[in-house]
Amino acid sequence: MEKREVAEVLNAPAPHMVGDGFRVHNFFPSGYKIDMNPFFLMDYGSKIEFSARKNPRGVGVHPHRGFETVTIAYHGAVAHHDSAGHSGVIYPGDVQWMTAASGILHKEYHEAEYSMKGGPFQMVQLWVNLPAKDKMSTPKYQAIKQPDMPLVNLANDGGKVEVIAGEYKGVKGSASTFTPIEVYNARLNKGGNADFAFPKAYNTGFLVIEGSVTINGSQIANANSFAYFKNEGESIAITAQENSVILILSGLPIDEPIHQYGPFLMNTEAEIHQAIADYNQGKFGYLEE
Ligand code: MN
Repeated sequence: MEKREVAEVLNAPAPHMVGDGFRVHNFFPSGYKIDMNPFFLMDYGSKIEFSARKNPRGVGVHPHRGFETVTIAYHGAVAHHDSAGHSGVIYPGDVQWMTAASGILHKEYHEAEYSMKGGPFQMVQLWVNLPAKDKMSTPKYQAIKQPDMPLVNLANDGGKVEVIAGEYKGVKGSASTFTPIEVYNARLNKGGNADFAFPKAYNTGFLVIEGSVTINGSQIANANSFAYFKNEGESIAITAQENSVILILSGLPIDEPIHQYGPFLMNTEAEIHQAIADYNQGKFGYLEE
């Protein structure tokens, strides 16, 4: 298999606040014009200390249509509620894979007990696009707890790869997806090696959550940077310079037009107008603030 070269190692863009609870670096589509289709957006909340507060910080009720939000927690805890009646808490290591599809309302807050104590907070939210045929499917929700996540132990005590979606070394991930997508958390020990291979057509990159890694024996990617790969070659070799955590993303692009307006991600402008009209008419359901 041919080696897949890094196109660029990108530093975190300047952060902004989402509500008062999420300080995020938008790597794409705003921060960098890279093609990570079918991943439409990546907001990275790099590690930050929140002070203790009785009323949890967060973001209030808002809609989504046409895609999935995937929230991955590393520090702190996120509580959420949606208009389909789902609620829960995303603790460190957990993943919430929410299919907004035809439309939901939800709210995302710091979990009450975490908020009362304060402390480190670190998370990622991805927006995963849906193909046209699935954009108006029924909303659903997958709560994936870290202890239940399939994993692959690496050779020579190198660490482990948690398979969130897709398949790694014959181990299938927890999440069901609409299109071919690979999402893994690799938790590497210092000196640990991991290799990955994705088809050339898959857009591929990884975010360094913690530590520092060497890619293909040459380039270094440090904490809070995103290694973005060329669509040439397949195999990627990673060596951890210290104990490291990386979030690996790879997926087959969805070859369809995209129209985005705020929290709606559709194929045409007419569908955006329809989403706004449906939202204004209360068709996304109801959720208390
Ligand atoms: Mn949201």
